Amino acid sequence: MSLSDARGRPLHDLRISITDRCNFRCTYCMPRDHFGSDHEYLPRESLLTYEEIIEVVEALFPLGLRKVRLTGGEPMLRRDLPHLIEGIRAVSSELDIAMTTNGALLAQHAVKLAKAGLDRVTVSLDALDEAVFQSMADTDSFSPQGVLRGIKAAQEAGLGVKVNTVVKKHVNEQEIIPLTKFFKDANIPLRFIEFMDVGNTNAWNIADVVSGKEIRALLQQHFGNLKQTPSSIKGEVAKRFMFDDGYEVGMIESVTAPFCGDCTRARLSAHGSIYTCLFTSKGHDIKSMLRMGATKEHIQTAIQSIWTQRNDQYSKDRSDQTLDLPKVEMSFIGG
Ligand code: SAM
Ligand code: SF4
Ligand code: SF4
Repeated sequence: MSLSDARGRPLHDLRISITDRCNFRCTYCMPRDHFGSDHEYLPRESLLTYEEIIEVVEALFPLGLRKVRLTGGEPMLRRDLPHLIEGIRAVSSELDIAMTTNGALLAQHAVKLAKAGLDRVTVSLDALDEAVFQSMADTDSFSPQGVLRGIKAAQEAGLGVKVNTVVKKHVNEQEIIPLTKFFKDANIPLRFIEFMDVGNTNAWNIADVVSGKEIRALLQQHFGNLKQTPSSIKGEVAKRFMFDDGYEVGMIESVTAPFCGDCTRARLSAHGSIYTCLFTSKGHDIKSMLRMGATKEHIQTAIQSIWTQRNDQYSKDRSDQTLDLPKVEMSFIGG
């Protein structure tokens, strides 16, 4: 059975935030003045258990779900992660299982994750320069070298690897060329992400956004011709561009070229609510249903009804009016 929302978009992907905690404090995501030592994270009992998460995936698979991405917060902070991946893998071999991570703990765990059934990782890395990296992630405990070790370990474990870089004006623009050179030489796909107005704490300002177009111009100056190539994957949010030597970079232009028309993603928050858009404040509580003994069929019917009413297209409608609307934090809902 396939499901369509009010704009004809299927429910193809589920992003699952498995924790709202993180070992980084990226200024664009969990700025320390809002996520300091006194910040109250979700208590353990509020988090969905692995069994509950797997039950939601089981309920959604017959409705057309084919991609699951574990995220957060930092998903690798959650204990016994391979157990969750094994459970999701057991739902179906057809599911594509991915994880987005800051890579700090990847070197230690890549082999176990791959063995459990993880297909791919997207590793976030905003700079190769240690000072820029540490200032952007607001950490002095981690380094880009550690993340690069994680990437290597993931490749050696047989995982597909992509790298995501958020670009902020006057902060890490100068890293665009070194990052591209490094990952072009390593033949690892790299995607640049426009700094987004997600959540209410990252002091977003359009003046801090470096557009995909600007990034492309810079890349062409340094590496020569860059040609757009059609995306082969439905619901793929990155625009793909190829250099003459065949290396591809992606651009996620959610601010300057929104892709709501193709958005096939639902999000399951760390505390067990379904969100139909990254920029919404209203979730639909599934955890209470699960804990009151709802069957898989009940969960399926509830999400079916949520999805068929889905009308969201925040990025497409983005304007001065939408900017001040209350939104949920990305670490909570799952980036
Ligand atoms: N901690 C993991 C990580 O950083 O990869 C997973 C969660 S993080 C919220 C998921 C992705 O969202 C990362 O690639 C991160 O760079 C991106 N992200 C977070 N805040 C953002 C923002 N304001 N604009 C654009 N991308 C953002
Ligand atoms: Fe943590 Fe990822 Fe957010 Fe950075 S982007 S603070 S690593 S959740
Ligand atoms: Fe999807 Fe909402 Fe982002 Fe549009 S703004 S692409 S509907 S998550």
